[in-house]
Amino acid sequence: KEINGATKVTGIIGYPLTYTFSPPMHNKAFEALNLNYRYLPFVVEPNALENAIEGIKSLNIRGINVTMPHKEAVIDLLDELSAEAETIGAVNTINNDNGRLIGYNTDAGGFLKSLKEESFNPAGKTAIILGTGGAAKAVAVALARAGAASIVIIGRSGNKAEAITSSLISNFQEISGKTLTFRDNLADIFQIGELIVNATPVGMKESGDLLPVPLEFINASHFVYDLIYTPLETALINGARHKGAKAANGLGMLLYQAASAFEIWTGTSAPVEVMRQALIQGLKSGDRPDNAEEENRRVPT
Ligand code: NAP
Repeated sequence: KEINGATKVTGIIGYPLTYTFSPPMHNKAFEALNLNYRYLPFVVEPNALENAIEGIKSLNIRGINVTMPHKEAVIDLLDELSAEAETIGAVNTINNDNGRLIGYNTDAGGFLKSLKEESFNPAGKTAIILGTGGAAKAVAVALARAGAASIVIIGRSGNKAEAITSSLISNFQEISGKTLTFRDNLADIFQIGELIVNATPVGMKESGDLLPVPLEFINASHFVYDLIYTPLETALINGARHKGAKAANGLGMLLYQAASAFEIWTGTSAPVEVMRQALIQGLKSGDRPDNAEEENRRVPT
């Protein structure tokens, strides 16, 4: 559909937005279903967040994804939160419901759908989560909701890890929780753990071939889920597979969080395969969508 007066605008706010694969995923999906929607990047500095959120209403923007560093700060600026976003304490999707801004967290559900696609059922299992940021919180709540028996949070700071554990225990009475730091002796806990989730940025392209935990802790009975998707195969994933463990990258979570946001905004089932192909294409054609532009600028004329 051509852009016209009835086009509904969606997009993403973050700062910076150097790495985002969301615009092609959503735009290809709108195109596939012939929906009169567009998805745009909005680079919003932290001190402009409040005005930007007001702008969603003023400009009648249909919906917005929220990424770093705004996922937590945005909460106070919204009219309502889904129960899940409230429990997690982070929002990645805003729906403009006739002028009322409602915050959702589709990262959690996206993670669960991706686990299901990998045929891993977390019910009754012991999960170890590395990291204590927004993604770790979403994963912890998702796993608790899916009936995990026990969740271990490992952080650099014991305080942040403890805050997540105690919030989990107060929200999900059935679950048992434990807090550790990377400085503790982790060998025993990895013997018990069944699902290992890396929710730290350690292993991302720019950090090199680093590991969030030594490979000696990983064994063939583990399912290792690395939230990172650039590169698609981190040193952790590669090492885990060599040890005979099953492993997955964060592509599925990224895909399914987007599919849920699409459904919230359009009320229509997301064309998941179209979105998956757009995502894979985006990842293949260079991880910095603005790279070409920067390179061009450097060419002397
Ligand atoms: P965040 O809020 O900045 O949290 C990052 C966490 O990693 C913090 O707990 C931080 O510890 C910890 N950390 C950073 N460097 C570390 C190091 N060298 N050793 C140990 N821990 C370290 O980020 P986030 O939003 O949670 O994202 C975390 C990762 O998940 C990123 O790689 C992101 O790309 C990925 N992610 C993927 C998806 C997906 O859809 N696949 C969705 C969301 C996020 P401190 O608190 O001590 O600083």
